[in-house]
Amino acid sequence: MKPILRVLFMIAEADPFIKIGGLGEVAGSLPAALHRLGQVQLPGDGQVSGSELEAPVEVDVRLAIPLHGAVQRKNYPLRSLANFRIPYGRGFTRVEALTYEGDGFPIYFISGPLIPVDAPVYSLDSAEDGLKYTFFSLAVLELVKILNWKPDVVHANDWHTAPAVYSLGINRQPGTFFFETSTLLGLHNLPYLGDKAGPGLAAFKLPPDTTTSLPAWARNMPLPLGLLAADHIVAVSPTYAREILTQEFGCGLQGYLKSRAASISGILNGLDVDKWNPQTDPALVRNFGLTSLDERLANKLALQEEAGLEVNGDIPLLTMIGRMDQQKGIDIALEALRQQANRSWQAIILGTGNHSLEESACQLEAELPDRVRTVIRYDSALSRRLYSGADAILIPSRYEPCGLVQMIAMRYGCVPIARATGGLKDTIRDFSASAESTGFLFAWDTPTALGATIRRALQLFADQEEWRAIQLRGMTEDFSWERSAREYLVLYQRLVSNRMKITTAG
Ligand code: ADP
Repeated sequence: MKPILRVLFMIAEADPFIKIGGLGEVAGSLPAALHRLGQVQLPGDGQVSGSELEAPVEVDVRLAIPLHGAVQRKNYPLRSLANFRIPYGRGFTRVEALTYEGDGFPIYFISGPLIPVDAPVYSLDSAEDGLKYTFFSLAVLELVKILNWKPDVVHANDWHTAPAVYSLGINRQPGTFFFETSTLLGLHNLPYLGDKAGPGLAAFKLPPDTTTSLPAWARNMPLPLGLLAADHIVAVSPTYAREILTQEFGCGLQGYLKSRAASISGILNGLDVDKWNPQTDPALVRNFGLTSLDERLANKLALQEEAGLEVNGDIPLLTMIGRMDQQKGIDIALEALRQQANRSWQAIILGTGNHSLEESACQLEAELPDRVRTVIRYDSALSRRLYSGADAILIPSRYEPCGLVQMIAMRYGCVPIARATGGLKDTIRDFSASAESTGFLFAWDTPTALGATIRRALQLFADQEEWRAIQLRGMTEDFSWERSAREYLVLYQRLVSNRMKITTAG
């Protein structure tokens, strides 16, 4: 019989129950991929870094999320699992835990007065969220104790569930339920520290740190405290794992993170390759694949027509899709395009977010009405038409922990022109640097650097044979969640064996 590896995966949102952003995507895919992996013999075939898969294991993964008001309960028959109380303030607060077995593994939903049904998943004020998510984190730990299901690994994600890691860090004494449990904190976006969540921690008797390991300003914030307590920290790409050790990306925690460098690694997120498949995507005008790439042109022509741009396959069609946020560098893209106005190209920009960035994007359309279209809305179907019809996509992010846009684009034959940062650097091979290139990368977050790279791409677009080779290589990249899940499994196994050494030594 295969040994069982028990993984408790805690996170603020999970697709399809509730999805606001990238965390929801991850939670909608990774636990299921781990579950599937645990059902088969792991070959240890060298695909995993270090190919250290020890014995094959069965993975007993359980996912826990808050029962947010926006979860459509009628779509998911939830079964009540336990009612209990946890210490809160000077008394207690109520918890109801419910469960749903979706993909063959249990999903726990936590409900209670501190997760108000009318509250958004993320409030603008991290003070409010501090209470909600600290409650959630500790309620999940209490639940598995009540169920007498002892996780080998608690895998928490970002600041919302970091309180669970911190709580285990300070309470995991010999003889306690969680003594043998290892902790892992997934880092999806370092700048979100939960900066005003200190009172939420205090309400659940999680004290500020009293050592001097963290900078003084960070000693009462969930994410830094989680980083401090975690046995291991995983950033969502190897490059981001290195970048957070620097002043540019470290958000003031780089000194502490450097001291933990040996316990920090990066594992790229995957992509749901069934959901994003140009061969079957019903939103496309024409489906296509590796052996029918020529069909793709129909999508481009339809898109030009839809946008009211000149319908001409020879004009390079650029796109940009994403949140209008400083992080994404939309301002860099707008200026870079403005600087290329004497060349032949068209661009369709899709995004919502910061109003002044939205206005700047509309302004570019007003300046260059015959070649720029700006669409300010969230439109999943349009995004799919853009991935399938545009020739190239601009991704000038100032930082990008992993990024999905470039993976989707490559899968749809839309060539990425991206800043060499975080996951972008790890998933795209630059045309000048590699004979196996899948896109274009540039180093500096400036319009000049992006502009020069757009020119490189436009030049190559004229050589349709080369361009096609780049598209095809991008389309064959393995971005599956299975690849990521294998890496997580290796890491979990390593953590368990390290923890065993500690717990048996004393
Ligand atoms: P983020 O930092 O926003 O999570 P990612 O690159 O990881 O960035 O993922 C962004 C996801 O959201 C992609 O699937 C992208 O297609 C989608 N997206 C972003 N903005 C829009 C929009 N305005 N309309 C449709 N899809 C969008």
